[in-house]
Amino acid sequence: MPNREPNDPSIHTSHQLLERVREVLGESLERPLAPGLYLVATPIGNLGDVSLRALSVLARANIIAAEDTRHSRKLLSHFGVTGELTPYHEHNAARERLRLLARIRAGSSVALISDAGTPLISDPGYKLVREALDAGLLVSAIPGPSAALAALTSSGLPTDTFLFAGFLPPKSGPRRTRLEELKSSPATLVFFEASSRVARSLTDLAAVLGPREAAVAKELTKLHEGLTRGLLDELASHFAEADELKGEFVIVVAPPSAEDASATDDVIVANLKAALQKESFRDAVRSVAENLNVKRSRVYELGLALDRGDEAP
Ligand code: SAM
Repeated sequence: MPNREPNDPSIHTSHQLLERVREVLGESLERPLAPGLYLVATPIGNLGDVSLRALSVLARANIIAAEDTRHSRKLLSHFGVTGELTPYHEHNAARERLRLLARIRAGSSVALISDAGTPLISDPGYKLVREALDAGLLVSAIPGPSAALAALTSSGLPTDTFLFAGFLPPKSGPRRTRLEELKSSPATLVFFEASSRVARSLTDLAAVLGPREAAVAKELTKLHEGLTRGLLDELASHFAEADELKGEFVIVVAPPSAEDASATDDVIVANLKAALQKESFRDAVRSVAENLNVKRSRVYELGLALDRGDEAP
């Protein structure tokens, strides 16, 4: 830390800032939370990323449901939050869900947090939210950090349309099958990946998706944060040669190019033939056009040629 003189303007600014934070939190801290389920995002590494609203909700919630209570206790203690913590994870979720919903019905506020980032994003909570909504209970998101968005926005890849696909299957066969399903999505793809599988997943990504641009984000918001960019096969070789990887990773892959995205006539005709076994001509044209993301008129023309017995051009 550089030494600062007593009249250093930055000291004045930081005092003012802290005062203002106290004022903002103070106001809301005095109001009790309405009964409901609060989905509170927490930092993905850098504790400075917690929001003022997250702290104010965590400080006031009657119960804080956390994936790993020991892990979350450390985060909460850091900010002086001492609320009742209860575990909510995949092994106790069915039972805990009923208990938490009953507590909300009885007037409690429940904050759901995960080990890091936004709850429900590759973390528990989806069924809890669904059942709370179905029961007419208040559900409110306190948005904040998520590794998926931090990686996407810093990847240098298109952000207008993206598909968050969570974790790929751990084994190569099912992983490649999943990638075949995602291959023609006209979207930037975002995957979480364990450090032990980054290199093998990149190899499968390169094999199935071909030469697309991609980025591997590592340890976002932390001391060893980094971003490696390149074509998928370049990244696959780079990470295969790297020493044992440590830390947390997100892989971001560019959408297919216009050429890759448009299906060939042969593919359209094959799909159309299959669809005509189950559907009328009109419905088959519509569903094939939607599934392959191609113009209906093109499928229609190829369909007419089929009807006339012409070969696909
Ligand atoms: N709910 C969390 C979120 O919103 O970011 C994600 C939870 S998921 C169980 C954990 C995965 O998120 C990790 O395996 C990694 O792929 C990614 N991740 C979490 N923190 C990260 C970070 N600081 N840098 C890079 N990836 C991270």
